[in-house]
Amino acid sequence: MHNNNNDGRPERAASGAGLSVCDTCGDSSCSATRRRSGESDQEFRERQKLEQRMCRIRRKIVVLSGKGGVGKSTVAVNLAVALVMAGKKVGLLDVDIHGPSIPTMLGLKFGSGQGVGDELLPIDLDGLKVMSLGLFLPGEDEAVIWRGPMKTALIRQFLKDVAWGDLDFLVVDSPPGTGDEPLSVCQMLGRVDGALIVTTPQRVAAVDVRKSISFCRQLRVPVLGVVENMSGFVCPHCGNITPILCAGGGQQLAEEMKVPFLGSIPMDPKIAESSDHGRAFLSHYADSPTARIMREIIQPLETLVDGSDNKTECGKEKELSNKD
Ligand code: SF4
Repeated sequence: MHNNNNDGRPERAASGAGLSVCDTCGDSSCSATRRRSGESDQEFRERQKLEQRMCRIRRKIVVLSGKGGVGKSTVAVNLAVALVMAGKKVGLLDVDIHGPSIPTMLGLKFGSGQGVGDELLPIDLDGLKVMSLGLFLPGEDEAVIWRGPMKTALIRQFLKDVAWGDLDFLVVDSPPGTGDEPLSVCQMLGRVDGALIVTTPQRVAAVDVRKSISFCRQLRVPVLGVVENMSGFVCPHCGNITPILCAGGGQQLAEEMKVPFLGSIPMDPKIAESSDHGRAFLSHYADSPTARIMREIIQPLETLVDGSDNKTECGKEKELSNKD
């Protein structure tokens, strides 16, 4: 039987000895230890590699939205930064293939991605490990015109080949909607510890949020809560928040769907300014009222990693339903 770390995860001393961690883990219930029927050697090796990678990540949070343009990436970046500021080891993965905005938001150069051997190296930004398709595109104006299988292959590669190392949290900025791409993300991550659903206050956004919640329920992904973004406008002169769109849609919907409502983030010109200058809002404007609001929303998630269930469940099979 293998030794475990205090958190229940297998020790990794074997990796330096030229062995796969799975060779010495001893968890025979893990699906990484056995080939599935009909699986070729290569398919088995690739799946095992993916599951080994995911095994080294204690908590995986997916940031979802029913549609684009609601500030999902802003929430993902600031969640990841808040976790780093709380002393956690954090990775941020941008799999929004058609709109990878995280390099711009964090001041990373498009085309600066690097690989060594068969591994892709995340960029270390003051303790935050970042990976995005944008790092492998020549420029931010480059359109990605790919069909579904290529997108699925890319998502798999990002999860399987990125050298994350041991992480407390992986925050995944998922493509919007409830189609193939977010589905692939959730399936390949193995166990997802929770989804954060980002919406805007208008009632028209409600339908999309319902779909996102239904998506999570079908995939058995716990909904950590709904965040209403762009909820009011912060006046750059007096700092008052004016509700310019009808507010409260996110909260009402969260109550109807019986999921937690985590809070509302106002539209703050400093958020846009930070993004445009490639700086994380939460660290750059740490003392602003909006940063305080964000921290209050994010703070309950920081304790996830300290919760009673610390044991990773990589490789555990998930039953998926494709019913609507
Ligand atoms: S992937 Fe499974 S078998 Fe391999 S180290 Fe992790 S728990 Fe053990």
